[in-house]
Amino acid sequence: MERHESKAETNPFEAMVSRFNVAAEKLNLDEGLYQILLTADREISVAIPVQMDNGKLKVFKGYRVQHSLARGPAKGGIRYAADVTLEEIRALAAWMTWKCAVVNIPFGGAKGGIICDPSTLSMGELEKITRRYTASLIDVLGPERDVPAPDINTDEKVMAWIMDTYSMHVRHTVTAVVTGKPLDLGGSVGRREATGRGCKIVCDRAISRIGMRRETTRVIIQGFGNVGSMAARILYEAGYQIIGISDVHGGILNTLGINITKLFAYVQEAKTVVGFLGAEPIAGKELLEYPCDILLPAATENQITSQNADRIKARIICEGANGPTTAQADEILYDKKIFIIPDILANAGGVTVSYFEWVQDRQGYFWNLKTVNERLEEIMVNSFDTVAGYADRHGVNMRIAAYMLAIDRVAYTIRERGIYA
Ligand code: GLU
Repeated sequence: MERHESKAETNPFEAMVSRFNVAAEKLNLDEGLYQILLTADREISVAIPVQMDNGKLKVFKGYRVQHSLARGPAKGGIRYAADVTLEEIRALAAWMTWKCAVVNIPFGGAKGGIICDPSTLSMGELEKITRRYTASLIDVLGPERDVPAPDINTDEKVMAWIMDTYSMHVRHTVTAVVTGKPLDLGGSVGRREATGRGCKIVCDRAISRIGMRRETTRVIIQGFGNVGSMAARILYEAGYQIIGISDVHGGILNTLGINITKLFAYVQEAKTVVGFLGAEPIAGKELLEYPCDILLPAATENQITSQNADRIKARIICEGANGPTTAQADEILYDKKIFIIPDILANAGGVTVSYFEWVQDRQGYFWNLKTVNERLEEIMVNSFDTVAGYADRHGVNMRIAAYMLAIDRVAYTIRERGIYA
């Protein structure tokens, strides 16, 4: 059978394919299904001309990749970053398909990105970029087609612009076209914290498997954006000891535990964890390798690679980010018996509550926080246990088990639906 061969270690699509290949082999996946599942349904590239505040025109480039719509509307975030590539968005879209299948919600996978550096853009410029991007994608978006959400450097405000632009085009308000919206525009309670809360739920499962208690579990978090900061707060409130945190500017360490409430107050002003008086400074790279029980990468791809994996001293890695570990690093970590909660399981809390938001918007009936959190807990616990059970039964690690489960579910749907000709 003709297989894609894995090339560069840090190419995210290759990283996805190398895990996919192992899982497909174990599942004895049919060749035709293999090709279907590795080919994105649709890849769109758009030019986004914008008149900047200084009056000059500038053209940005945007992408939306819909990897699969077999199990339902495509679902996935949109990121704004200077280093966005189509190849990266393609990988992230496929990961969304697997993620939605792992937690068994009725969505396919998609991802979007715009090449830009938001720190250099005014609010007005960001709004124009967002609205023009949305208008260019108007035919492929929609509650039944493709439902964006926040990702790196996009937030509730950006989702509000997308919702409004889409609604203006179709001539009525369509809240369910995006998730992660502001609460008073049809957002869901608990969505902002959902990815971090999901991480905490799977960490609880992982530590209880090895007989550890929260109070003596030392956690290091890489990243203090939405996922990292919410995970820090929720883990801290649950009794975990957060001993280290880093962001793009640097890291902080306190082996006795960082007071996260005070850190939040500090970051509110300083806009970075660096300089926080309740901890020592440490370089971000060094912090990754510092001994701890749980390492929670919550930043971006390719943070744990063949270059540093043998120096990682965590017992558990909980992947809050998408693709933080390369396939080569996986092998090293596995040999070191580090227990990995893979991204497509660990960070699925976000899209799970996005699903709740979409359901609530379509019903026009909103749930309270207790209901959202209880349903999130139920889905995350079941998904963790299903993946762990699958791993035990098939003698594979958690990552391969999660891929096998996801591929099996998507392949089943495609087989049942049949191929339209
Ligand atoms: N961007 C988030 C992720 O990577 C959330 C996606 C969503 O809610 O659709 O999972």
